[in-house]
Amino acid sequence: MTARVIDGKAVAREVRAEVARGVEQLLAAGGTAPGLATVLVGDDPASEVYVRNKRRLSVEAGMVDQHRHLPGDVDQATAEALLDELAADPAVSGILLQLPTPKHLASDALVLRIPAEKDVDGLTTLNAGLLAQGRPGLRPCTPAGVMRLLDAYDVELAGAEAVVVGRSALVGKPMAQLLLGRNATVTTCHSRTRDVAEVCRRADVLVVAAGIPGLIGADAVRPGATVIDVGIHRGEDGLVGDVRYDEVAEVAGLLTPVPGGVGPMTIAMLLANTLTAAKAQQGLGD
Ligand code: NAP
Repeated sequence: MTARVIDGKAVAREVRAEVARGVEQLLAAGGTAPGLATVLVGDDPASEVYVRNKRRLSVEAGMVDQHRHLPGDVDQATAEALLDELAADPAVSGILLQLPTPKHLASDALVLRIPAEKDVDGLTTLNAGLLAQGRPGLRPCTPAGVMRLLDAYDVELAGAEAVVVGRSALVGKPMAQLLLGRNATVTTCHSRTRDVAEVCRRADVLVVAAGIPGLIGADAVRPGATVIDVGIHRGEDGLVGDVRYDEVAEVAGLLTPVPGGVGPMTIAMLLANTLTAAKAQQGLGD
């Protein structure tokens, strides 16, 4: 194996410690503790685990847990009314609607009820637009976490060839825009890309968020490249990513494992966004 392994758990721990210090400073400056409202609709076991971890780690960082749970058969109007209530509540700094919501709900319409300044997932149209224009705003947590990992390992981005596999609103698109904002030359691949491996081989920095287990192998990686695997899949032998770890580790220079790579960063950046939102709302922003 040649690749250095990127330790997402350690970097996430650092980010959470920074956030905890930021919360203490906010209180010392006369502010109030940030409140994070996670909203879970229904009882999907995977979503329950994600939400439980977000709540636990927000409390560990000194935040107030403002969690709400709606039954799986809730109607659209009731769910929207809850989000409106959270939007108006000054004790709530950030609102995170756990996705996916049950199929009968229009999740896009629900996300639109979240005011941009409380949109700690960075998914509203306004925050997406601010990112597209390169202006300050709350950034989607997973791509923001990837940027933080790249910085933690001093990966050169200006002028680098970056390839992002995937173009979802949650990961791929904001990822490409964040890399572009740091002056990388960015190419995005998607399901209609003719030869994904060929495009990926150009990359100095390759971020894979396709949602297909083992899509990317050693043939798609330039020797020495930095490879970030966003994919998470629950297989028979535990969690696996979109990258075939063992073979890519022989070629890449830096590589994230699954688990323990990008995953822990997503929650850490959610906490960072919640602190940023609270400070801005309390007029104590940077
Ligand atoms: P998604 O909405 O399903 O988007 C997948 C993207 O990959 C789409 O843009 C799709 O292209 C593209 N794609 C699909 N097959 C492809 C192929 N064969 N070659 C190239 N591109 C292909 O998924 P997502 O929400 O972005 O999530 C991606 C993965 O990251 C999933 O495994 C998810 O579980 C994981 N994830 C992890 C975290 C974390 O915290 N670590 C957070 C979020 C997501 P089209 O647009 O053409 O369909």
